Amino acid sequence: MSVLVYTESEGQKFKKAAFEVASYAKGVATMLGTTVTAVSINGGDSSELGTYGVDKVLEIKNDKLSTFNAKAYADAIKQAAVQEGAKVVVVSSTADSKFLAPLLAVHLNAGYASNVVELPESVSPFKVKRTAFTNKAFNVTEMPTDVKVIGLSNNAFGLKENEGAAASDAFDPSLSDGDFGVQVTAVDKATDKVSIADAEIVVSGGRGLKGPENWGMIEELADVLGAATACSKPVSDMGWRPHSEHVGQTGKPVASNLYIAVGVSGAIQHLAGINASKVKVVINNDPEAPFFKAADYGIVGDAFEVVPKLIEKLKEFKSNNA
Ligand SMILES: Cc1cc2nc3c(=O)[nH]c(=O)nc-3n(C[C@H](O)[C@H](O)[C@H](O)COP(=O)(O)OP(=O)(O)OC[C@H]3O[C@@H](n4cnc5c(N)ncnc54)[C@H](O)[C@@H]3O)c2cc1C
Repeated sequence: MSVLVYTESEGQKFKKAAFEVASYAKGVATMLGTTVTAVSINGGDSSELGTYGVDKVLEIKNDKLSTFNAKAYADAIKQAAVQEGAKVVVVSSTADSKFLAPLLAVHLNAGYASNVVELPESVSPFKVKRTAFTNKAFNVTEMPTDVKVIGLSNNAFGLKENEGAAASDAFDPSLSDGDFGVQVTAVDKATDKVSIADAEIVVSGGRGLKGPENWGMIEELADVLGAATACSKPVSDMGWRPHSEHVGQTGKPVASNLYIAVGVSGAIQHLAGINASKVKVVINNDPEAPFFKAADYGIVGDAFEVVPKLIEKLKEFKSNNA
């Protein structure tokens, strides 16, 4: 009756979210006095999962699953859960996992709690803490169903190293044609840059940057930090930046470890989308800008002076520590 965890990968490498859900599953398994089994679909090197507490990996190698298919993936994970007698199944909060989790819950006749941010408050009864109202509040949800599917918020738990052997077993779920009613025929990536969803660090620019011609320094800061770039809604509405970079209540949610906002006022609709980020740094020339109240660190100053200095110092630091 181990805890089952779906460990996502891309290009045969585990995503950061996979290591985080594995760390979380280990925590739940310890509370339940059991082990952790991971399901990997055309995934990376299974032994890597051992570092995060996984005891066994069910490895699915199947060309039909080379591109994400929510129905087929949910069916495969369900079969793994049934084989292992898992009562708790942990998935991440990536777009793919959010897509498959409700299907998986239906397959397993399970309760599904999304946006979970901590280890269960108790396991009997089973209670989890979740964010609500676009991260402005928390609630504690009791899950009375026999089987539970937990969707862990990205970056809520972090990576925790644990000793695990991660022995791997081949697993061959039986998939029917019905699982492939909808098929992805091509995946065109708009950019090779790190995506906002996967980024550890996000550098975001607002209307305070005055115009699209000034984004060079935002991109340079992002390059130095290995970060993704983002922007406020008016910036994308005015066409200064692509809509894919718009974050906030009506844009993409950001749950990075570090969020740097440059010339963004911190309107409530912007904060709603970035509240889940761990450390927030604000650069704004108005000491009264609302963002300072939500920030962990703030620099009151002109972005056109502060950002170039920051880039220079970061480059210096990197070359001294190369
Ligand atoms: C229904 C609804 C949904 C919305 N959804 C979203 C959303 O998802 N995301 C979102 O971002 N917004 C959203 N908005 C818009 C939101 O209310 C704000 O209008 C918007 O976030 C403001 O963008 P901004 O901070 O870039 O611009 P401004 O509010 O114009 O702020 C610019 C900031 O830059 C600072 N600044 C100016 N010059 C400099 C300088 N030289 N150096 C440093 N700082 C400088 C200013 O002090 C100011 O704080 C929504 C609004 C509504 C009504």
